[in-house]
Amino acid sequence: MPLALDLDSYARESERFVSEMDREYYLHFAGHKEEFEIEEIYERHAGLFDREVVERLRERVSSNGGEETRRARYLLELAVGGLLGRETKREETELAEREAALELEVGGERLPYRQSAVTQANEADPERRSAIEEARLDVLESELNPLHLRALERAHELARELGWSSYREMYGDLKQIDLAALERQTSAFLEATAGAYEATLEPHLRSQVGFGLDELRRSDLPYFFRARGFDDFFPQERLIEALEGTLGGLGIVLDEQQNVRLDTEQRPLKSPRAFCAPVHVPGEVYLVIPRHGGRDDYAALFHEAGHTEHYAHVNAALPFEFRHLGDNSVTEGFAFLFEHLTEDPAWLQAMLGVTGSEEYAGYARASKLLFLRRYAAKMSYELELHGGRPLSEMPDLYASLLGDAVAVDWPARTWLSDVDPGYYVANYLRAWAFETRLRNLLRERFGDEWFTQPEAGDLLREIWSEGQRLDADELLAQVTGERIDFAVMLEEI
Ligand SMILES: [Zn+2]
Repeated sequence: MPLALDLDSYARESERFVSEMDREYYLHFAGHKEEFEIEEIYERHAGLFDREVVERLRERVSSNGGEETRRARYLLELAVGGLLGRETKREETELAEREAALELEVGGERLPYRQSAVTQANEADPERRSAIEEARLDVLESELNPLHLRALERAHELARELGWSSYREMYGDLKQIDLAALERQTSAFLEATAGAYEATLEPHLRSQVGFGLDELRRSDLPYFFRARGFDDFFPQERLIEALEGTLGGLGIVLDEQQNVRLDTEQRPLKSPRAFCAPVHVPGEVYLVIPRHGGRDDYAALFHEAGHTEHYAHVNAALPFEFRHLGDNSVTEGFAFLFEHLTEDPAWLQAMLGVTGSEEYAGYARASKLLFLRRYAAKMSYELELHGGRPLSEMPDLYASLLGDAVAVDWPARTWLSDVDPGYYVANYLRAWAFETRLRNLLRERFGDEWFTQPEAGDLLREIWSEGQRLDADELLAQVTGERIDFAVMLEEI
């Protein structure tokens, strides 16, 4: 590798790498091809993730400041993530292959491992839900956790080899997020909502699951989130029409967006969940549409549509780092903005003709509170997990933090699989706070039916065009003059 790093040519090759990875992801998970061949892609671009390169980029980041430094910082996060990915790709590939091949045995019936979560969420019998979960946890512990653990230990080691004191310090640095300060905010949220949690949740548990917190097991939660009782509000045949109508209200004609490729065809290997694959931003963005209806498919499709429209509207003249990299709290914020429409009474009435959705709004608030408390506890846990304490203490710590936050017995065995790499938990938490502020602004300026106002679309398009050049704090300061503070989530509950 040359000693002087040319940022422009490094960025160009990074873009080719990211694009090839996203295309492979799209082809595999949309069911166009069975194989998931990322190893070759890493090989083709091995020079990107050289340690030497990481060093050079770090020097750039610590130099003068300004746009150059910002670009180098975004590229550095990609380079470190790529280096970690390359060094643990054997474990990751084996995890994916085992997960795809494993089967559970539940009451004499065989169930594919990956399918089991969907089956559990749709299972009305609590005993069978519990049996499915137990069988899955057994397999997780014996077949997958050893691989998860090896990958985690390798990642921790690499962080130290690269000169950081811990994985936690490394990601705090790379993301420029004060993780400890964020954790203080989320802990304060846990404390502030502890008193109201049970009373908020109880009536909705009783109506969706059939019993309250005293009998609730962790294995009942997917069924609670699935909430089949509300399926009538969300018919399958109106899924795409509802999306087109919503975008149309904002002045976006989905049909005419040449750069947005809708994947609606049914294929046997296609993922049952919606997803967005930004293969080239903004020129080639895929939105993969699911097969079913029901509240969770609507929520998932709108979430992914938020990503899609964000990427599709980025100014093509920006450098790759600002079009595609940067603070993912921003793109997750737009994803949540669209996702939350599907629980907004004004939207339900306008797009799906649903009236009397107060109970649904109450349910949505309760499940959001549960979700936020779970993620707040995950934030505290992940600070410890990646902070240098002995890993042997982690399963118990994980079970007690999550169990206290959600008020059910929480299994320790998911202490590794429940963790997204690179502190993505912080991106989600920041995105929720960012989105709440942004939604408040849209309501204030354009009314409760802001999603029917082309001017609201103009504002969003203007913000989207910047990509992720600014991080969520800077963007929020620019748009509303506020700071990201998780305390704003208290207003939502
Ligand atoms: Zn997302």
